[in-house]
Amino acid sequence: MNEIFDVVIIGSGPAGLSAAVYAMRAQLKTLVIEKNAMSGGQIINTYEVDNYLGLPGINGFEMGMKMREHAEKLNTPFITNEVVNVDIEDNIKKITCIDGTIIQAKSILIATGANNRKLGLKAETTLLGKGVSYCATCDGAFFRNKVVAVVGGGDVAVEDAIFLARGSKQVYLIHRRDSLRATKILQEELFALPNVTFVWDSAVEDILGEDHVEKIILKNIKTNEQSELDVDGVFVAIGTNPVSEVFDGLIDMNDGKYIIADENCETSQKGIYAAGDIRTKQLRQVITAASDGANAITSIDRYLRENKF
Ligand code: NAP
Repeated sequence: MNEIFDVVIIGSGPAGLSAAVYAMRAQLKTLVIEKNAMSGGQIINTYEVDNYLGLPGINGFEMGMKMREHAEKLNTPFITNEVVNVDIEDNIKKITCIDGTIIQAKSILIATGANNRKLGLKAETTLLGKGVSYCATCDGAFFRNKVVAVVGGGDVAVEDAIFLARGSKQVYLIHRRDSLRATKILQEELFALPNVTFVWDSAVEDILGEDHVEKIILKNIKTNEQSELDVDGVFVAIGTNPVSEVFDGLIDMNDGKYIIADENCETSQKGIYAAGDIRTKQLRQVITAASDGANAITSIDRYLRENKF
């Protein structure tokens, strides 16, 4: 492609689509590159999103489609391709895609998101949204007075267990070691809850159920002993993997490979911005991703006005 875009948005989850809407309304020459032709990012796998202001109970897939439609209504150009490299020459960013296409841009917005780390079980696909979840804040309300398991020992697992214990009958916290990684204050809060039971030194071997989760099979890592637990839901909270590999070496990242950027979405590289789950932030949710998209384009618009190309 010979043309030079004002902004190329990489990723079409809530952050990328929100940015597309703001960029088109700002009349920037915009292109969205998405790896899959199915916009929406992680939310398209969420049965119901119940915490996005004004849209209680919306189906995650429907929400992703509505966001896409909004961007399309403004004639946002989309291409399906995979970015494999970014170079900078004379302040112009050169984006190379897997099929050899080279795209030039004055600025880039990285909105590639993060993937939830998986246990590696088949049921994580077949029972996703049917009892298997990666987001207690999104799906916890569906397990009121039910029995759930949370897998993991970090801050997210402990926060999820505390959140779920408020409405669920019983919460099992399953962790592969005999001590938690989470901050002490969270641990203390969790240990004080009467309806939380800890299952230490254990791995989830399988999740069983016909059309919804019915039980999990556990293995004690120290004794190799197997056991079963009847549960209605399994919340997997074993960390996330940011999709940032392509930008390694180009932009500053933290130890977890999240791109370091504040609310203005500016990265360490002039003209390159990061929005949504990919950037360092406190809360990774649809609402904060959408907000990032708006902030990022405001920063980019200012950057384009202040720089001559
Ligand atoms: P995390 O801190 O990386 O913890 C992941 C947990 O999952 C660990 O306990 C780990 O076990 C376990 N785990 C990893 N892979 C596993 C596997 N394959 N099978 C079973 N268990 C596995 O991730 P996180 O809890 O998602 O937190 C991410 C980051 O956000 C952290 O830096 C965290 O501090 C931060 N955060 C902070 C707050 C807060 O400050 N309030 C809230 C949320 C998140 P091991 O312990 O054995 O490694």
